[in-house]
This record gives sequence, structure tokens and C-alpha cells, in this order.
Amino acid sequence: MRVTFVGVGEAFDECLPNTSLFVAGMTGESRRTVLLDCGFTAAAAFFGCPSLSDADRRDGPDAVWLSHFHGDHYFGLPYLLARMQEQGRAQPLCIHGGEGVANRVWQVVELAYPNLRDRLDFEVVCLEARPDAPLVIAGFSARAAVTGHGALCLGLRLETQFGILYYGGDGAPTPACRELASGCALVVQEGYGMLPGMAGHGSVAEAVEMAEAAWANTLAVVHVRRELRRERGAEIARQLAAASIRALLPEPGEVFEA
Ligand SMILES: [Zn+2]
Ligand SMILES: [Zn+2]
Repeated sequence: MRVTFVGVGEAFDECLPNTSLFVAGMTGESRRTVLLDCGFTAAAAFFGCPSLSDADRRDGPDAVWLSHFHGDHYFGLPYLLARMQEQGRAQPLCIHGGEGVANRVWQVVELAYPNLRDRLDFEVVCLEARPDAPLVIAGFSARAAVTGHGALCLGLRLETQFGILYYGGDGAPTPACRELASGCALVVQEGYGMLPGMAGHGSVAEAVEMAEAAWANTLAVVHVRRELRRERGAEIARQLAAASIRALLPEPGEVFEA
């Protein structure tokens, strides 16, 4: 499993692209790819990401996962679809997300480019994910759980042949999220604040505690509030260094391999 941090930022960070991960892994004999979240600034970051191969940036992912319907997690879709159309994509694209995903996807595409849907030369299939049912995303087995966020947000466990990933989207980890993170090679969890108690968001401290309790191999903390990351970066680094597992504050373009 190779996970590229296309973006690591929160919603309105002017320097760091919105949090978005490109996962490449094996399922059987096939290499498959998934883009996890695609916010306002994430699609541009994807096509410009120097850590991705030319082929991956040309072809785009096999599937997209949308943790929830806030703009910093899905308003990059019109850009992604239009650019893949320009680049000659022919293979279908599956977009997975919570209840109402098809409406959400086509609404935002319609607002951005009213004729785009009819002009697409590739099929877009929107599939609803439910927390109580197993999922298959780009051939990978997966499961989802509701996080503690203001909007309904789904954390995702994605099982590749060589490594399992948990990606929490937005929100503090709930007991169901903790269960999905169990034994993962990589846990990616938002740390919008430093300490627990943020309304609708997680914290660096909860991310560390969750990943330790899950016996994760590595924790990556993303979606840190921009002022915190800039002004208290050293403190966050010390907090992560003190964890009993490997814990990172990744930069855009950083790659994790399991
Ligand atoms: Zn967000
Ligand atoms: Zn959100």
C-alpha cells in the first residue's frame, strides 16, 4: 500500500491544500487506486502532486471516497471530472459516500459546469455507503463508521492486500471509529485542536490516544487548524514524538508505504 498525502490542510488554509489522500494498493493481481476526499483545493493539488506518477495523474483514481459533504471534502469534484474528461479518460469512475451521494455529486457538478454531466465520455457511478454494511471500494474491502462531526461524516477502514488504512475524515473518533482503526498500518486522523473537547472536531491528543489504543503502526495527523499548525508546530511535534507509536504531521506530497 502506498499512500500519498495530496493535501493535509483544513478547510480554509491558504497554504496547505485540503486534506486528500491517494491510496494505491494491490487486490489480487490488480493495482487499484482510490482518492480519499476531494475538496476545494484538493483536485488541483492532485494533478500537481510531484509524488504521483505521470500515469496516475493522467488516468486519475479508480474510485473516489467522500467522507462527508462539506466543501473542503467534495467541492473539488467538478475540477476532477472536467480535467479527467480533458485528459481523455474512458474508464468508469465510482464515487462512494454517505446517504444522498448521487444528488450531492451531480448538484455540485451542475452548478460548476451545467453541461459537463452530458459531455462526459466516462461513466460516473455513485454508490451510497452505510455504516452497518460492508463495502467494496475499487476492489478493496472496506467498512465505514460515523465520526463525531457537525455534519454526518464517515470514517473509513480500507483493506489492501499489503496494509490496512483508517481515514477518519472530520470529527473526533467515536467508539465505532476506534474499532475500525484496530491494527491498521496507517491511521489518518484529524487534529483540528490540540486537546479533546473541540465541538465537532478531533484533537492531536485524541488522535495519538486513538492510534495507540488501536495498536496502529503509524499515525498521521491532518486537518490541523491553520493557526495551530503555524504557531504551535513545535509543540505538536513534541506531542507526536512522545507517542508510543510512530506519529507524523505529514506535509503535502509526503508518502507512506506499508
Ligand atoms: Zn474538513
Ligand atoms: Zn467537515
